[in-house]
Amino acid sequence: MNLYDTEVAEGLLEHRGFEIVNDAMDSGPYAVDVKVNADVFLMNTCSVREHAEERVFGRMGMLGVAKRTNPDLIVGMMGCMVEEHREKLFRRFPQLDLMVGTRNIKELPGLIEEVRQNRRQVAKIKQDGISIEYTDQILRKGKYHAWLPIMTGCNKVCTFCIVPITRGSEVSMQAREVYREASRLVSEGVKWITLLGQNVNSYDGNPHPNPLPEGEGANSLAPLAGRGQGEGRINFPELLDMLCEIEGLERISFTTSHPSDATEELYRVIAKNPKISRRFHLPLQSGADSVLKRMKRLHTYAEFREKIRLMRAMIPDISVTSDIIAGFSGETAEDHHKTCEALQELRFDSAFIYKYSVRPGTPASKLPDDVPINVKEQRNAELLDIQRQITTESDQRLIGRTVEVFVEDTNARNPLQLYGRTQDEKRIVFEGETALLGRFQKIQIGQLKRETLLGSLI
Ligand code: SAH
Repeated sequence: MNLYDTEVAEGLLEHRGFEIVNDAMDSGPYAVDVKVNADVFLMNTCSVREHAEERVFGRMGMLGVAKRTNPDLIVGMMGCMVEEHREKLFRRFPQLDLMVGTRNIKELPGLIEEVRQNRRQVAKIKQDGISIEYTDQILRKGKYHAWLPIMTGCNKVCTFCIVPITRGSEVSMQAREVYREASRLVSEGVKWITLLGQNVNSYDGNPHPNPLPEGEGANSLAPLAGRGQGEGRINFPELLDMLCEIEGLERISFTTSHPSDATEELYRVIAKNPKISRRFHLPLQSGADSVLKRMKRLHTYAEFREKIRLMRAMIPDISVTSDIIAGFSGETAEDHHKTCEALQELRFDSAFIYKYSVRPGTPASKLPDDVPINVKEQRNAELLDIQRQITTESDQRLIGRTVEVFVEDTNARNPLQLYGRTQDEKRIVFEGETALLGRFQKIQIGQLKRETLLGSLI
């Protein structure tokens, strides 16, 4: 979502005559090269884990130093940390000039202008509504791939999670707006779209909020007709099905899903539509029921396992990936052991594994953060080891096989190489001409080298 919001912010600014010099910070995890000749330094932030916030605070300190030598530098922040901390950040960081909330990105150029003229701290942080902007001014990084947010916010109650605080309640984009934007992207040459939402699969869109103006794209919206008529709403499986009808759109992915909304109806739509990615990211968080209960995940481990079993039965070529939190409040050694066993049993193709960090204002912030940091680290490392082994085994099974990949880009580390994504979004590196970019190509997988799958064109 932040990648998308950044592309929107950059596009809007470029349209107003700004030049984007955004790669200065990409030279290492903590590196901030503020010696570039930038007039404005903008950070798009995330609050999901404490670590991400600490990095932003660190950079803020460096920017304070940079401003001493360049007092005209304008420092701005966008994203969820703005929603979380609001004006408190101005007091803590006098070097911060402007803040823009997730629902106010369009106001960014005006805010920068205001700081330039008045040299005072300004903020625009709207509280409700949808934090999605569709704009053809977006500066997309991918030529053939595009992000497409369809809903924001979350109505679930997971006790560890700050999203309901920062992004608010669930709001879905109208189905016809999604359809229209997807069609527009395809007309620009996009072939692969990733649908985004904090809980993408609880999408609940209104198909026809207003009657369509006469002649205005009525035909291009034909797939909407007769859908969602029952209750007047379109759910996520219906939306996916509808988007699959867009000619020229070849692949559709989505992230991230909550297990409660991973339904048989959704699996059925995926199974029958070869355009839909064969990678399903479904966060488990823990293998222990007592922990799942304290997290208010709304399911037991057995129920989650059954969802995966059904998904794999209905979509045999599906790859499942997941998220795990290590060391949540009250997690015992036995609970941790159950999560280890869950990884062995469910055999995700890959998983993001994080140490639990308390997020201010969440229900779990009232629970004791009682797993000592060294124990969290050790459990985190153990889970990572188990998963690395399983991911390697799953990758090794691909060796010798011929797969179809969507050729996405050149390999940043070696310009002679390209990389593509299989139907389940595994990354394969191979040698080839850039003329292949944006095409589907058959590749024979040769070897697994330091967690990278290498193949060759056939
Ligand atoms: N909506 C998805 C989760 C998206 S947040 C779901 O409900 O399953 C992405 C991931 O960040 C989560 O799956 C979780 O594993 C991790 N995460 C969220 N809050 C966290 C916290 N307080 N500490 C550590 N990891 C956290």
